[in-house]
Amino acid sequence: VSYKGRFAPSPTGPLHLGSLVTATASYLEARSRGGQWIVRMEDLDRPRCQAGAAAEILRALEAYGFAWDEPVLYQSARDEAYAEAIRRLGDLVYPCACSRRDVCRCAEGLPPGRTARSLKVRGGDFVLRRADGLYAYQLAVVVDDAFQGVTDVVRGADLLDSTPGQIYLFRALGLPVPRYVHIPLVRDAQGDKLSKQTLAPPLPLDDPAPVLRRAMQFLGQEAPALPVNELWNWAFSAWDLRRLPHGTEIDSGLC
Ligand code: GLU
Repeated sequence: VSYKGRFAPSPTGPLHLGSLVTATASYLEARSRGGQWIVRMEDLDRPRCQAGAAAEILRALEAYGFAWDEPVLYQSARDEAYAEAIRRLGDLVYPCACSRRDVCRCAEGLPPGRTARSLKVRGGDFVLRRADGLYAYQLAVVVDDAFQGVTDVVRGADLLDSTPGQIYLFRALGLPVPRYVHIPLVRDAQGDKLSKQTLAPPLPLDDPAPVLRRAMQFLGQEAPALPVNELWNWAFSAWDLRRLPHGTEIDSGLC
């Protein structure tokens, strides 16, 4: 496959305009290149996931006219693959006794009398398995992007800081590194990223076309007023990544 993109939501709440903008960018980048596109449910952080949110997200994606090429992969079913990746990293992995506030020197060896809480990776010095036993997003996203053969990641600029660590892990595991595009984040009137934390409203499912058009307009595309299917067909040929607004934020003047 020469192009395989993905949308990887965390089911901590329903889809909102910010996540629709991200999904739209990754879908259009894939489809306009004749590529494949998949959806992965990043339900790794069990305590933060909301019952029913994954199903709700998939229903919303369907209502907005997205179609994915493979069954949805759930990270909650992938613990064995993450454990295997940690084994493969071998000596690069070290146990760490620190909390976030500590100045950490555990890469040189656990201080006497301390017990390991998490597992970290040498060089990157970020967590691979958390103190609560859950695998970290940084590890899972790399293992799964490689497992699913993702060639191109299109996601929000809020994840830009995570990208170097992910590239480091791909290389350490001997896996091919995908290409990355980070798109600007939609901000609400208060300047906050639209997110579940800032209580961005869920996407309306009864009349998706105007909202989808809005999402495309945020992405710099001059989308016309059309029903959903025709809007997608317009966008598959008109989509141009170079029209994305510059910078890491889109001032929405909405909400
Ligand atoms: N699951 C992450 C999120 O919802 C996105 C991961 C990614 O695109 O790499 O923020």
